[in-house]
Formats: sequence, structure tokens, C-alpha cells
Amino acid sequence: MEAIEDRNRQLEIDDRKYIWHPFTQMQDYVKEESLIIEKGDGCTLTDIYGNEYIDGVSSLWTNVHGHRKKELDVAIKKQLDKIAHSTMLGLSNVPAIRYAKKIVEIAPSGLTRVFYSDSGSTAVEIALKIAFQYQQQAEEGNPEKKKFISLYNSYHGDTIGSVSVGGIDLFHSMYKHLLFESIKAESPYCYRCAFGKSYPGCNVECLSRLEEIMSIHAHEVTAMVIEPLVQGASGMLLQPPGYLRKVRELCDKYSIFMIADEVAVGFGKTGKMFACEHEDVTPDIMALAKGISGGYLPLAATLTTEKIYNGFLGEYEEFKTFFHGHTYTGNPLACIAAIANLEVFEEENVLDKLQAKIRHLKERLLSFKDLKNVGDVRQCGIMVGIELVTDKDTKGTFPHKERIGHRVIKEARKRGLIIRPLGDVIVLMPPLSISMDELDRLCDITYESIRAVTEKI
Ligand SMILES: *Cc1c(COP(=O)(O)O)cnc(C)c1O
Repeated sequence: MEAIEDRNRQLEIDDRKYIWHPFTQMQDYVKEESLIIEKGDGCTLTDIYGNEYIDGVSSLWTNVHGHRKKELDVAIKKQLDKIAHSTMLGLSNVPAIRYAKKIVEIAPSGLTRVFYSDSGSTAVEIALKIAFQYQQQAEEGNPEKKKFISLYNSYHGDTIGSVSVGGIDLFHSMYKHLLFESIKAESPYCYRCAFGKSYPGCNVECLSRLEEIMSIHAHEVTAMVIEPLVQGASGMLLQPPGYLRKVRELCDKYSIFMIADEVAVGFGKTGKMFACEHEDVTPDIMALAKGISGGYLPLAATLTTEKIYNGFLGEYEEFKTFFHGHTYTGNPLACIAAIANLEVFEEENVLDKLQAKIRHLKERLLSFKDLKNVGDVRQCGIMVGIELVTDKDTKGTFPHKERIGHRVIKEARKRGLIIRPLGDVIVLMPPLSISMDELDRLCDITYESIRAVTEKI
């Protein structure tokens, strides 16, 4: 026992001593109690002391069928007996080929080519570079079209290209001198409408403004980048019904490519395999990551149409090649996990079973609106954002210093739930495999944690 206690204390010391955590003010982190995960099973995470928690944000929006899912474990172990990694530059490998075929079969029709990488940021970065390069060199391209349109409150990753099309000031303004210009349109954040209107009386004014922007800039814009249905990282902002479809129509009207960033919303999170399916939309380019490997290994894919792909063909010396490729692109272990992920979707009818959970979650969320500091509750599929305000009428925001979201998730931890806030928005996004009982516990603990923090205000 003593040895384990010693090991745990040493891990805590070394975590603070050696690791620089992402999106984390380390000055605070080193003072707080640490939580070090040792194991996971289903929707449960276990820390080094044996304490158990519900994985309420699916290990940052990645996990799909639970941890230690037998089919995924077995697939990876079997692949390990063959090979862990070989390069895709000039060669190919078996799982990468099999997965590409499988994902094209289920992706919105018209997306026929798969370019692999290893994170959501790179998947978007690749989408941007493809959309740019196409215009420069394709027969049907237009070299004047060099810019991008994106939405305020959007998040597309942390690399310089994906930050350039991002619209969250807190994350992005520091880097403004490093970024390329992108044209920003107001996002449909209905709870805090940029035009002071309310849906549906607004006639979706944000779409009219988007069309204005497109009509002014069409000659210089290659693509619009959008998170379909839900702007995740800015606090689960939901687009009104028909919005995405209309964006597709506008992109067609103004000859602008539509890049759908399905990194967060893909793989069932919205209740369908891809968010674009809700509005029968095929983007020109689609970025996938997070849930792609079931939440097991870093993998991403950028899918494109045949038309875009053809724009990169030519004699070698024309240099129409897409000169891009990350070293671990198409990694066999990650691809085999991604294949197993899709097989579980099929074999266990995951999306069918999910519908009852989504309805149950919707009912459970009704009571949250009674809490005095809950301003808005947003849900799309299994994705939830609960926005906390100082006052429901004024929709006042808490001072940053109060770290209200952070305080709520600390309370949740004490009660056996791991969640992560986005500012003052409490996010819930459990694995699709969560049971009804676990879903109830997730809601109970979240409710209690919000109440525990806000009743003192
Ligand atoms: C998380 C996320 C990304 C970035 O993915 P990483 O794997 O963290 O690089 C990009 N777009 C969206 C919509 C995301 O939610």
C-alpha cells in the first residue's frame, strides 16, 4: 500500500514539475488538487487512487463507444501483431485503404477522396490549403479567389491556418499578427443575437448578412468554413433549422466552396452520423477527427469531391501536387481503430439506440431552466451547453475572475463526474454508449453542482 501511495505522490509532483498542460493557466494548475487518470471502462474513468468518475465530456469529445471497448481493443492488438506504422508517402497500407473506402461509403454523397492526417486542426488546415491551391491551379479555378469566410464564435483548431478562420477572441486575438485575413460573418447565437433580434421573428437576419458579405466578396473568396449545426467550442451554439442548408445554397450561388468542420459534431454526436445529414447537405470538403477513431488514437481525415481532387492532377513538372503530409498520416493502428469504430456503429445499431437517450436527456434538461443562474440550455443530440448568467433578465455574464464554470466542474468532480466548461457554459457530451442510469447520474450531479455553486451567490 505504502509503495502505491508513494508512487501516486510522486506522479503528482512530476505532473506539476514536467508537464505544461494545454489550455491551462499553469500558475493555478500547480496549486490545485490534481486528478490523474489511470484506467477507463465504458463511461467510467478511474484515477490513481481508485476513485471513479463518469466521463461526462467523452474525454474531450472523442470517445464514442466507451473506454476499453472490446472490439476496438482487439482490432488494435491484432494490428500490432502485423505492424504499428509505415509511411503513406509513396506507399500505402491495408487499414488506411480499407477505412478510406468505408468512410466514403457512408459520407455525404459526392465526397470521394480521403486525405489523412492526425488532428482536427490539421484536417482543417489541409481543407484550407486544398481550397486555396485548387483556385490557383485548377482549370476551373480562379487565382483571384484566395480568401475565406468564417463565422464569429467558430473554432477550427489551434494551428495558424485554423486559427486564422477561428472566431473566438479569447483564444485567437493574441496571434492576430501571425494570421492571414479571413472575412467574418456574425454567427447564429440566438441567445445573444448580434442584431438584437429573436428567432424566428428575426427572419434569420444573420443569413441575410452572410449573403451580403458573400455577394461583396465572392470574387476573392474560395471557401466558407463552418461547423455544421453546432459551434462547439464557443459554448454549443445551435444554428436554427434550415440555416446550414441555406449556407450550402449561398455557397453554390456565389461559387464558394463549403468546408464542413465535422471534427466535433461527426460520428453520431448530433444523433446522425454526420451533422450535414440533418439538412441533406454535401459540403465540398469535410474535416473529420475527434470521434473518428472511437476516441482511441490520433487520426483525422479531410474528404473532398472528385472535382477538387482532379484540380490537383497534372504532369509532375506542372507542380500541381498537394505538397502536404504529416509523418504519421494514415497510421495503421489508428485506421484499424477507425474501422472497428464504424463496425460497432453498424453491428450495435448505435444511432438507433441513441435516439431514446437524446429524448431522455432533453426531458432531464428541462428542470435546469429553473435554476436561478441558468440562462440558456442548448442541446443537439448528445451535445449540451448550459449557459450560466448573473441574472436571467439581463443575461449578465460573470466576471472572468469568478471562474464560475470552473467552480461548477470542481463540485462535479467531488460528486464523481468529470466535465469541462467553456467559460461560463457547462458542457455535457458523454460517449454515445452511456446508459440511461449513467445519463441520469450525469444530469443529477450537474444539477447539484450548479446549485451548490450558485446558491452562494
Ligand atoms: C476540437 C476541434 C478542432 C481541433 O481538433 P484538434 O484535434 O484539437 O486539433 C477543430 N474543429 C472543431 C470544430 C473542433 O471541435
